[in-house]
Amino acid sequence: MVNADTEKAAILIIDDEEPIRDLLSDLLSPTYDCTTVGSAEGALAILNSINFNLVISDINMGGISGLDLVPLVLERTPDTVMVMISGQQAIDSAIEAMRAGAFDYITKPLDLRHVHTAVKRALAHHQLLTQKRLYENHLEELIKERTAEIEHLAYHDGLTDLPNRVLFEDRCTQAIAIAQRNNNLVAVMLVSLDRLKKVTESLGHAAGDVVLTEAAARLQQCVSSGDTVARFEGEFAMLLTNVTETADLTEVARAIREVFNAPFGLGGQEVYVTTSIGISLFPSNGEDSGTILRNAEAALYRAKKQGGNNCQFYAADMNALAMKRLELETSLRRAIENKEFITHYQPVVNLASGAVVGSEALVRWQHPELGLLPPGRFIGLAEDTGLILDIGDFVLRDACARTRAWQDRGFGGLRIAVNISARHFQEEDFTERLVEILSETKLDPTSLELELTETSIMENTDVAVKVLARIRKLGVKVAIDDFGTGYSSLSYLKNLPIDTVKLDRSFVAGAATDPDDAALVMAIVTLAHNMRLRVVAEGVETDDQVTFLRRLKCDEAQGYLFGKPMPPEMFEMAIAVNPPRKNNVLSDSGRLLIDNLAAAVNE
Ligand code: C2E
Ligand code: MG
Ligand code: MG
Repeated sequence: MVNADTEKAAILIIDDEEPIRDLLSDLLSPTYDCTTVGSAEGALAILNSINFNLVISDINMGGISGLDLVPLVLERTPDTVMVMISGQQAIDSAIEAMRAGAFDYITKPLDLRHVHTAVKRALAHHQLLTQKRLYENHLEELIKERTAEIEHLAYHDGLTDLPNRVLFEDRCTQAIAIAQRNNNLVAVMLVSLDRLKKVTESLGHAAGDVVLTEAAARLQQCVSSGDTVARFEGEFAMLLTNVTETADLTEVARAIREVFNAPFGLGGQEVYVTTSIGISLFPSNGEDSGTILRNAEAALYRAKKQGGNNCQFYAADMNALAMKRLELETSLRRAIENKEFITHYQPVVNLASGAVVGSEALVRWQHPELGLLPPGRFIGLAEDTGLILDIGDFVLRDACARTRAWQDRGFGGLRIAVNISARHFQEEDFTERLVEILSETKLDPTSLELELTETSIMENTDVAVKVLARIRKLGVKVAIDDFGTGYSSLSYLKNLPIDTVKLDRSFVAGAATDPDDAALVMAIVTLAHNMRLRVVAEGVETDDQVTFLRRLKCDEAQGYLFGKPMPPEMFEMAIAVNPPRKNNVLSDSGRLLIDNLAAAVNE
């Protein structure tokens, strides 16, 4: 609907007598915006599209009468004011019209002064109605707003505006219902800030509030968009629904620890806050939100009791596994800073001559409590956490530097093999880092061989082939490690720019006794040689294995028979007593080296 005129009041005049219409129109037009119409039907048509402040209507008309028109008008536009025109003898009808909602009436013959006053009063009434309506609308909105605010307060934490316990439990119940249907896990993770009390004690409550508000924001970065971070009873609570295994939760715990690594800025002061975390899971730790939450509280209590800065699962068995990993990860991070990694070197011998031609660098972790850990205990974790990049760079640098030093001390042709994890190899700047380490350590690139597994190359063959080509252009050699255990497809070998195949220990182990293994080893050596690849046998432990491998003309070998991986100082002694000589025939297989090594170590 359109308002006829916003400045002048709009009046609709309805009368079946034209002279009356004209009279009223002439009278009112100078002051008001007047429209005239000869019947109630005509009026209703106009009223469909135009709003009038005032309708002046005759009562006695053919068709719909003025009396019947009153409710029809007021139904459409309740704020329209109606004034009836009535004959002297039809005052009853006028009164009836007023009962139906008309505001006033004027009588025929028209007294013009009276008309004016009636119109003015009617319009004043209209204005009043409009104002009242506006006020009512406003009031309604105000009430709506306040109700929403109060409702929000009932479900949220006043300080952080995060959901409170009521809302959290509600969402938890919903999540459990969905998880039940989909066979999913739901986790509740309670997070407590360890040193918060100290912060408020020394810097005041306002400082504590700053930390809490900032902590709320940081925690929200650690969850997916559908998950809930809430706050109640002084702790934060997280509802995690995208959970398929406990590893996902240690992932979140790790993310939390990471976001809390940064200090909180408090007006020039920097405060570090750690977290205690308690975790409980649906369905293994409870079937309803109340139980899950209670168990998460128990787990949190345990985490705090352990001195804080740690994470506890409710179930003890689950705890042991996840915790071990998390603990190991914490100490793994520290290990890099504390330089707890060391590299051992295992001799690689030429099978024909028996000479030590080089070594393989194998990393170990000198753990302060657990002792010397083999790579199997931590490489996987280091790969998952990205720490492998630092470890890998360390080993590469150490191996290159040592080998260069050995070469300088008279062992010119000595080579070095370094294991490179897929994650490390797939780093965009891997080649740049390699070049940097080579120039830093001044090692001749042709002395270096990188050992990669089939898997790390096959994950993204196109890119891998390009990187391999770049590496080999430097002069660095490439070996496929543990060959035969991965894709085990011999045919793919010919498409790869590589130099060496390292025959996996499991094949070598059976080669001298199991005809199937023997046949396989033979096939691999023959094929590799056809492709002009060097073959190194891993895990050689017996003389029989050596005899067999030499018959096959396998190029090189490494294994406990020749020497276990050893600290660099020991390796240096070993090559000193058994230097890499061209014609050093391996008499009595590896005995010579072994005996010499034993002698060197015992001295
Ligand atoms: P790998 O590269 O195949 O290394 C050979 C493994 O076999 C070494 O185990 C070595 O100690 C062991 N070995 C050597 N000769 C014999 C033998 O005669 N008998 C037996 N039973 N075992 C033998 P280690 O040192 O525990 O290393 C295990 C794996 O860890 C390595 O397998 C390699 O894949 C990985 N690794 C070691 N150092 C590094 C590293 O610096 N970076 C990366 N990414 N991975 C590494
Ligand atoms: Mg290796
Ligand atoms: Mg291997």
